[in-house]
Amino acid sequence: GRGDCFIGFDLGTSGARMSIVEKRMSSSSSGDEKKLKYVEVVTESLTWNDEMRYDDANDWRAAIDALLARVRGNEIMTRVKSICVSGTSASCLLLNKNSLDVARPARMYNYDILSSSDSSDEDSPARRVMKLIDQYVPEKHTARATTGSLAKLLLWNEVKPLVNAKGDVEEVFCHQSDYISMALMWEGVDNDDKKCKVFSDWHNCLKLGYDVRRLEFPLWMHELLKEGADIPHPESVLPSKVISPGEPFGVISPVVASTYGLSSNVVIVGGTTDSNAAFFASAGTKPDFGTSVTSLGSTLAIKQLSKTFVEDASRGVYSHRFPIFGNSDDDEKVDDEAWLIGGASNVGCAILRQEGFSNDELRTLSEEIDPNSDSSYAYYPLTKKGERFPVADSTKEPVLSPRSDSRKDYLHGILQGIGDVEREGYRVLGELGADPSMPTIVLTAGGGSANSMWMTLRERRLRNICGAAVEVRRATNTEASYGAALLAAASFENTASPASSENYGTQENYI
Ligand code: ADP
Repeated sequence: GRGDCFIGFDLGTSGARMSIVEKRMSSSSSGDEKKLKYVEVVTESLTWNDEMRYDDANDWRAAIDALLARVRGNEIMTRVKSICVSGTSASCLLLNKNSLDVARPARMYNYDILSSSDSSDEDSPARRVMKLIDQYVPEKHTARATTGSLAKLLLWNEVKPLVNAKGDVEEVFCHQSDYISMALMWEGVDNDDKKCKVFSDWHNCLKLGYDVRRLEFPLWMHELLKEGADIPHPESVLPSKVISPGEPFGVISPVVASTYGLSSNVVIVGGTTDSNAAFFASAGTKPDFGTSVTSLGSTLAIKQLSKTFVEDASRGVYSHRFPIFGNSDDDEKVDDEAWLIGGASNVGCAILRQEGFSNDELRTLSEEIDPNSDSSYAYYPLTKKGERFPVADSTKEPVLSPRSDSRKDYLHGILQGIGDVEREGYRVLGELGADPSMPTIVLTAGGGSANSMWMTLRERRLRNICGAAVEVRRATNTEASYGAALLAAASFENTASPASSENYGTQENYI
């Protein structure tokens, strides 16, 4: 092929991955109408280990270098138009101002500020952060989480202020994905002019407290940082620009471009989080409203594309703003809003491992189960006490009894139980105002998507609440790096005003 190419990176929980997609026009069977598609032409991955750690920002850069080095000199590199990076949600660090130098090591997605050793002491930094959050952050806001990026930022400031005695900001905040995007733009670039700014995106900034409806950092955040955290100019520690995932940030560093044989006008676009990137991978960047993705991994997570914003922290439901890309055929659509709404349950396939079902046993037993019959068991297959979504209840107990003597019937009950939590999840989204109120198509991702009997069973029971129209299918590619590559491609799709580097200038005149 000779089509334009796009790179997606994913810094995930187990490793780093790179996908390169190529744009192709395929003629449809019906004749002259050409259809645009993206074919994954390169996939490279590596696993985090002791030499390349998942929580070391310098290792993230080393990982990106290692992945790019594998295709260095490949002719494909000369056709790359843009790059997008996805990272784990709420993984963040502090940088020395106007540089790529790490000031404080990363705090990852799973870091909880209450896990710090002295957090039981009433005057410990973590306790002081909790008080600030209580005082300033609106009730039930996602930014109240003790694993969220706002809590991590405040804890750093409590341990050692980001602002020096003169009131000048010395350290700035950035997310994992922001950091890699910055490195791609600024690596090797002379920063005497202090050009090296932190840019971020709607998805990464949600847990920081960014208001994705008004597209600004809210007043309570300014007050919290100013009065509560003694940072006179809050905007100077926060990302200087928060844009749509897939929207151009700027142009690649000439040093990075020449190192890997990339063109000097490759555009770096706004990033995303790993689970949103997996949605793009499964559903594409322009799905119809009602398109949903159920992830049946160790835990169950659902996401649905809705016209409306919905939020209910008491039930673990939140909305990500979904990027809308210019469409030359239908310009009215451009100003519309779209929301990726959903939640994550503690129920999931982890229970199958816990109950001793090997993948082989799952396969053979599932073939014996009739997906058109209902199990008489009403299990709630948690591995331990506590649920987040569709109901947030830290005291909710697993229900796995009465336990069947037959392994087949036991499995049937568990699979139905997990499916019913999924169904309840979609019902709750509808009740909270999802539009459309029910999913139209449910793409399935994760280890459980291998099970076609389960797909039939889930579809049949989902139809009871969604109506006959809902269709449950297996997603073909669910890799976050592939989703990021599609996002990189999306802003170039609009032929009316392509997001080419000509529109965004060179490295020099961009800022
Ligand atoms: P993770 O969330 O850890 O990335 P995966 O998406 O890799 O999880 O899914 C792994 C899970 O998939 C395991 O818990 C396993 O029990 C489950 N699984 C594997 N094969 C099947 C199957 N045929 N039917 C149902 N579940 C399955």
